[in-house]
Amino acid sequence: MSFEKLGLNDHLLKAIAEKGYTTPSPIQQKAIPHILQQKDVLASAQTGTGKTAGFTLPMLHLLSKRPPERRRQIRSLILTPTRELAAQIYDNVKEYSTHLDIRSTVIFGGVNQNPQVRTLRQGVDILIATPGRLLDLHNQKALSLSHVEILVLDEADRMLDMGFLRDIRKVLDLMPSKRQNLLFSATFSKEIKKLAGSFLNNPVLVEATPENTTAEKVSHKVYFVDQQQKTDVLIKLISEGDWSQVLVFTRTKHRANRLSQKLEKEGISSAAIHGNKTQNARTKALKGFKENELRVLVATDIAARGLDIPLLPYVINFELPNVAEDYVHRIGRTGRAGESGDAISLVSEDEMAYLRDIEKLLGLKIDNETIPGFEPTGNSVPEDGRSNSRPFNRRSNQKGGNAKPGGNRSGGGRSNSGGPRKEFKGRR
Ligand code: AMP
Repeated sequence: MSFEKLGLNDHLLKAIAEKGYTTPSPIQQKAIPHILQQKDVLASAQTGTGKTAGFTLPMLHLLSKRPPERRRQIRSLILTPTRELAAQIYDNVKEYSTHLDIRSTVIFGGVNQNPQVRTLRQGVDILIATPGRLLDLHNQKALSLSHVEILVLDEADRMLDMGFLRDIRKVLDLMPSKRQNLLFSATFSKEIKKLAGSFLNNPVLVEATPENTTAEKVSHKVYFVDQQQKTDVLIKLISEGDWSQVLVFTRTKHRANRLSQKLEKEGISSAAIHGNKTQNARTKALKGFKENELRVLVATDIAARGLDIPLLPYVINFELPNVAEDYVHRIGRTGRAGESGDAISLVSEDEMAYLRDIEKLLGLKIDNETIPGFEPTGNSVPEDGRSNSRPFNRRSNQKGGNAKPGGNRSGGGRSNSGGPRKEFKGRR
């Protein structure tokens, strides 16, 4: 299968070749033909599957079929939950449209709106936006959605988790009813299906990952450890495994900060990203991490959502998420683009109920072990004295089998080598 066969125009093929892509990823192979036929699409795909190009390339193809009006109107709206994701999609759109007469821009909150308003006034064909800022600027009459032909809701499940349902509904009412709708979501919950049913017309269902499961290339591993030992265990794993790029998740902003500071004290370069950080601080941290200036990025769930971090061999759950679906999102950061990855969770007593929920969602028992010298005592006290919210619920059967067919690796050993891979392999 090649991009040529998908029927994309030469300008797009040129941009794709310049990006170095040779083969369309599975989600691209499945979604692009339907989108080109102007069908509504309901797609299940995580970050890392190539979903952004999956909707952007056919969208650009369709938009470029008609020359732009003298006064450009927004013909395509891409709605995303987070600023980072919006910025990343914008970067992608710009790259893929280099050889086309198409203008795009991105708007999100947390930064001065004036430059955004100025760009909008000059006229754009594609707008990438987060819901809050979009509605704000619409209320101020800085933009109109009355010419939208194609709507993309990206990471729709996360938008619902973040409480954007009402905003999404408002946005839907601002657009012409005759339009093409594309909905991308990592999971298909009941709520997503309900939302999809409310505005998609006879959608084609496209799946790149099995429903509510994780990428098959990810190995899961749990280390049982007291809460107050977690930092030491993490330092040991990073140092002994000689890990060069690690994404670590905490549940709270406070813990993200504390952990990052402690790692720095130990000489492990690190930064925290979470909702209280300014946009600039987040961008700087992500850049530092991508450019290997930072070894560890400590993130909360919302902050990490949708980040485009290529080739991440390790994701560490310093704390398990209290919503099992977030585990799926977190580990979507590893095993990308056909590479394999390790998802390692440090689990204390008070998190056993979360672990059970996660295993139930994944439909597997995650392999677990203890680390000599760090065996849990059963007296878990959070390092900062704050308690985790769910009570301990001991489970009896801890003799876990392999988390995926083909066996687990242990935590250490593999370092992140090599540049970004351009070819998709393996991920469905
Ligand atoms: P996404 O899932 O959209 O976040 O994309 C994940 C990563 O895969 C990004 O770094 C893309 O640039 C890259 N990518 C997208 N499509 C392809 C492709 N067909 N071949 C190789 N890499 C790709």
